Amino acid sequence: MTTQTDILLIGGGIMSATLGTMLKQLDPSLSITMLEQQAVVASESSDGWNNAGTGHAGYCELNYTPMAANGEVSIQRALSINAAFEESLQFWASLVEQGALQPPASFINPTPHASFVWGEQDVAFLKKRHQALSAHHLFADMEYSEDQATLQQWMPLVMQGRNSKLPLAATRVAYGSDVDFGALTRQLVSHLQQQVGFSLHTQHQVTALKQVGKQHWQVKAKDSSSGKTRTLEAGFVFLGAGGAALPLLQKSGIKEAKGYGGFPVSGQWLVCHNPEVIRQHSAKVYGKAPLGAPPMSVPHLDTRIIAGKPALLFGPFAGFTTRFLKQGSLLDLIKSVKPGNLASMLGAGRHNIDLTRYLIGEVFQTHAQRVQALQHFYPQAQAGEWSLLNAGQRVQIIKSCPQSGGKLEFGTEIVSAADGSLAALLGASPGASTSVNAMIEVLKRCFATQLQSPEWQARMKTMIGSYGSSLIDDADLLRRIRQHTLSTLKLG
Ligand SMILES: Cc1cc2nc3c(=O)[nH]c(=O)nc-3n(C[C@H](O)[C@H](O)[C@H](O)COP(=O)(O)OP(=O)(O)OC[C@H]3O[C@@H](n4cnc5c(N)ncnc54)[C@H](O)[C@@H]3O)c2cc1C
Repeated sequence: MTTQTDILLIGGGIMSATLGTMLKQLDPSLSITMLEQQAVVASESSDGWNNAGTGHAGYCELNYTPMAANGEVSIQRALSINAAFEESLQFWASLVEQGALQPPASFINPTPHASFVWGEQDVAFLKKRHQALSAHHLFADMEYSEDQATLQQWMPLVMQGRNSKLPLAATRVAYGSDVDFGALTRQLVSHLQQQVGFSLHTQHQVTALKQVGKQHWQVKAKDSSSGKTRTLEAGFVFLGAGGAALPLLQKSGIKEAKGYGGFPVSGQWLVCHNPEVIRQHSAKVYGKAPLGAPPMSVPHLDTRIIAGKPALLFGPFAGFTTRFLKQGSLLDLIKSVKPGNLASMLGAGRHNIDLTRYLIGEVFQTHAQRVQALQHFYPQAQAGEWSLLNAGQRVQIIKSCPQSGGKLEFGTEIVSAADGSLAALLGASPGASTSVNAMIEVLKRCFATQLQSPEWQARMKTMIGSYGSSLIDDADLLRRIRQHTLSTLKLG
């Protein structure tokens, strides 16, 4: 028997959960089916322990503000990520107000975002970055200090026992956040399950998909509990399969998939076991990525609140892997090489030998070497109080490039069919924080007609007050919106 559904969401992570929730808010009559291969949703990258939980807003991530060739700090990327995160905050706040999400502390908690650097060159960079960012209304509340007593107050563990002759500096935004994306995803899906027309099938792995008519897809999923294969037909399919979105996109056969490849990078944290140490730190302190490291390897000492419990993590340590998911197969990478992306893969491989070397080097680090890296941030860290934990996988995007054959990208990208019947989310950075902005992009591409209707426009505005306006350009709107979200989400 074939199940018919309007919308098919493949994968039960934050992206599918966000898109499903938005679509149900926009049109409650839609039938939506979610297929998840694991026994529970949010068990891959979206789980709290598998990502850093940073509400990426450009406050602390130095890689979002590179130094341009003219010596100026470029802030464009930080502005757009900050504005995108404000959309997420508005969406979550509106769901909290509706009672669709539990009280905010169950998934988001105030955690100051700080950048910390040492040495003359980096201090000069941070000062310049602060000047450039704080001149813009999105970053007007960012503080800067070189004063040791202030730094001691902002980040006691970082300053404890620090015996450095080098100049130090930090910036801080007090209303930064830690987000438990696992808890958020589970709450979104649980709210969807309470609505008529939504069904979730766990332990269902999608194995095949093909277009069977105009804007119509047939999808096969294997039920691992019964061994049976289920057939579904849908008018719209979203590939929210995390790292495994690429192979599914390739299976779809849409011409827009041509040339895309993936390069998986694994992650690990040092996790602290001493509650007394955990208690003393309340911030996300980001540093500068070591030379040659990919942007997602920026080290940070991170307060986390996962499943309501405080934790302290340091990392991530990147590593080389051939799996596209944490629970994926070692053959994922090799199976993803197809005639359509061979040139991109080879091109990207040729131009990123240093990165591969760096990642392999990371894998072979000893515990003592990792603790040494931690001691740059927390000089009095004791090796015995920290242990290593595997994080999730990030599959970086490889795209064809006329000059080099292929290039590696570290962002997030939506790939969609020209007829709007299928969309996939590739890449993982800034990731979950900007899931709302990414899913708005899916709506724009695949539900363009409905989105222009007065009903959908009004509902979009109810979900996201700033929808249709620019928070980058409109300082008054930003002030009003931010006041509301910070107070509703209890981040202020
Ligand atoms: C180490 C690390 C640190 C990160 N830090 C941050 C951070 O600080 N802030 C931030 O915003 N983001 C961060 N991210 C990124 C963020 O975690 C991801 O962008 C986000 O979780 C991706 O969500 P998703 O729904 O696309 O994928 P996932 O959460 O991975 O969900 C995909 C789901 O699809 C399922 N699936 C896969 N294939 C199939 C199939 N064939 N059939 C059925 N189901 C399938 C999987 O089982 C999985 O449940 C980090 C990621 C990593 C790995």
